[in-house]
Amino acid sequence: MKRVYNFNAGPAALPKQVLHRAQEELLDFQDTGMSVMELSHRSKEYEKVHQKAATLLQELLQIPNDYEILFMQGGASLQFSAIPLNFLPSDKTANYSLSGSWSEKALKEAQKIGSTHTSSTAKETGYSTIPSQLTLSTDAAYLHITSNNTIFGTQWWEFPSTPSYIPLIADMSSDILSRTINVEDFSLIYAGAQKNLGPSGVTVVIIKKELLEQCPSNIPTMLNYQTHAKNKSLYNTPPTFSIYMLSLVLDWVAEQGGIEAMERINKEKAELLYETIDQSEGFYIGHAEKDARSHMNVTFNLPSEELTSNFLIQAKEEGFVGLGGHRMVGGCRASIYNAVPLESCQALADFMKSFQAKNR
Ligand code: PMP
Repeated sequence: MKRVYNFNAGPAALPKQVLHRAQEELLDFQDTGMSVMELSHRSKEYEKVHQKAATLLQELLQIPNDYEILFMQGGASLQFSAIPLNFLPSDKTANYSLSGSWSEKALKEAQKIGSTHTSSTAKETGYSTIPSQLTLSTDAAYLHITSNNTIFGTQWWEFPSTPSYIPLIADMSSDILSRTINVEDFSLIYAGAQKNLGPSGVTVVIIKKELLEQCPSNIPTMLNYQTHAKNKSLYNTPPTFSIYMLSLVLDWVAEQGGIEAMERINKEKAELLYETIDQSEGFYIGHAEKDARSHMNVTFNLPSEELTSNFLIQAKEEGFVGLGGHRMVGGCRASIYNAVPLESCQALADFMKSFQAKNR
């Protein structure tokens, strides 16, 4: 069996141990005589899986009791609509800080629903920085940020603070569970699972109970956060297999030493690649400014399109997968989420050095 060096941006690498465990349990899940996919979502066996995923997430992220943990569908993209539908009343303005394409998309959805204000933007730097100089509108309903910018490879290292009456909302799709955060700094955190949490299909939402009181009743039932909170994310059939995989990934994170351990290893992995870029004397050109560099998505270019193309072709031949930049920006990107081992990053750094030596 051949496993490649997987640098996919999402869906992305999963821990090998998790895949083995899923394989072992696939045909007969805990003596039920069926796979977890075949269990009723109302069965006590499935309920345990569901509950375990929520409990582990609560422990790992130290989520206080005045928050609800929800498992939703529709990806992070559905949250772009759900957030303004629930929390943008007609007499208020939704505030967005733009740090890349995903925050632009989130803003676009809010614009369909109500009044919006761009609090800050890094568009003028080609999203190589994190926006500074934030302005909040006086009637701000909330401030939305994207904590890690998957496409451009930048990450917020210091989160903006808002007055307590303005909820801070964060799309953490590409860096949840990769570093310690203080959940209490946020009123709502959401993340599609397919990068750091598991396979695609489930979106985790961590929401302050206080905020739930604001959900209006005249919006579609499935888009109302209250529906999911009141029914423990079992209002309708949840993506049971994705939630099961999430619970296995969370087990794995705990076994590795929790988020602190993840953070330490992620830093080491990112530093290996950024050092390779910095020591290449301009052969590899990092996209992000140094103080905005993401520990999850390392974006870089080579001096010409031809070299970039050759780099990607040869990398593929050597077993490196997913290194092409997002179709919007081109270049190269190594996504090094929690499940990408240090050895993969070391192998990539070695490959980058040898490619440079042959092509300078
Ligand atoms: N936000 C961020 C930061 C992302 O990276 C992505 C997906 N790459 C999305 C939102 C959209 O996620 P989904 O495909 O789950 O809708």
